[in-house]
Amino acid sequence: MMLNLNLFKKNYSRPGRFGDFGGRYVAETLMQPLMDLEKCFYESIEETQFKRELSAELKHFVGRETPLYQAKNLGKHLQQKIYLKREDLNHTGSHKINNALGQVLLAIKMGKKRIVAETGAGQHGVATASVCAHFGLECIIYMGSIDVRRQQSNVKRMEMMGAKVIAVENGSKTLKDAVSEAMRDWISRVDDTYYLLGSALGPHPYPTMVREFQSIIGMEARAQILERENRLPNEIVACVGGGSNAIGIFHSFLHDTEVKLFGIEAGGLGVETNLHAARFQGGKTGVFQGTHTYVLQNEDGQISSTHSISAGLDYAAVGPEHSYLHKSGRVVYEAVTDREAKDAFFSLAKNEGIIPALESSHAIAFALKRAAIIPKGSIILINLSGRGDKDLSLIEECAHV
Ligand SMILES: *Cc1c(COP(=O)(O)O)cnc(C)c1O
Repeated sequence: MMLNLNLFKKNYSRPGRFGDFGGRYVAETLMQPLMDLEKCFYESIEETQFKRELSAELKHFVGRETPLYQAKNLGKHLQQKIYLKREDLNHTGSHKINNALGQVLLAIKMGKKRIVAETGAGQHGVATASVCAHFGLECIIYMGSIDVRRQQSNVKRMEMMGAKVIAVENGSKTLKDAVSEAMRDWISRVDDTYYLLGSALGPHPYPTMVREFQSIIGMEARAQILERENRLPNEIVACVGGGSNAIGIFHSFLHDTEVKLFGIEAGGLGVETNLHAARFQGGKTGVFQGTHTYVLQNEDGQISSTHSISAGLDYAAVGPEHSYLHKSGRVVYEAVTDREAKDAFFSLAKNEGIIPALESSHAIAFALKRAAIIPKGSIILINLSGRGDKDLSLIEECAHV
């Protein structure tokens, strides 16, 4: 791999830019609120008081640190050491709460009383509803109507915790439309409302801020693997929707160039069909939802519709830092199909007694493919971004996949 670390540094030197990617492409009315948020964020992460409160909440409310689990059965016949970073064991069942908690603390500092958020699979909505209930804030969740249907149990959980779930009927009725609606809501009520974005997406400061709140995953995993194995993993694999769990685990390892990093996108029914969400294989660069990044689009720049068995990976754009990491070659992005993900789902459930989210199953599927071809005795670290309880009815419905 040809990686020039000086170039790497230079490309991170402008706030909100990752090489050519990122930025802040928004309506005039959002410039000031985004700058206020940026200021509050950079100040807060330097404050002892803020850091102490965030750490205490992560420990007592979320249940961190999460274990690093060696999946011995899964790796056995392949003679590899496969480790899972157990983000599925976080309160509410995924990594999303690491970010929701960090941002809600910023919202409280900024005096906001009303929180709006988008959700795809519903995991970010559930995490946001939970932290809002915890801190006594009003919570409104926008969710595409297709996702409302395919993730019913999460809709019920959000409502039980007092959130109002609004089904979005525009466009493809999935995550990108929910993001647009949440932004529209925020623009109309910036004075009392905080937009709690759920992935490393959108205009600056969100991609940087979300990455910082998720980087706890990689910091813990790095220390844990060094303690267990006395060396770094050979390869790290994470699924990439917007890219927050992946950037969260990758960040502590970016400078360890001997560690191979893989980001796995949704290959849907196959990247040769139009039914997938593999932005790096099928997409082109463009500006979408406030940031410059890779986007699935047609020749006229119209956003393509996407497909994945997992709602959390079903998004036409990708976080801008991943576009930079793709272009620089530091991270390799590959796609896994619905079918492969489903097989990996059962593989982990049957061999290890752990039911993974369908999103995370994409990472497991790819890791198992790598495990079959790389030198024996390698250490592969998989970010198990969430648990699969939300996917049970979907798995039954898609018995034919
Ligand atoms: C939301 C979600 C994802 C995808 O989002 P990223 O921002 O790419 O991490 C992946 N896994 C699970 C379990 C999720 O809930």
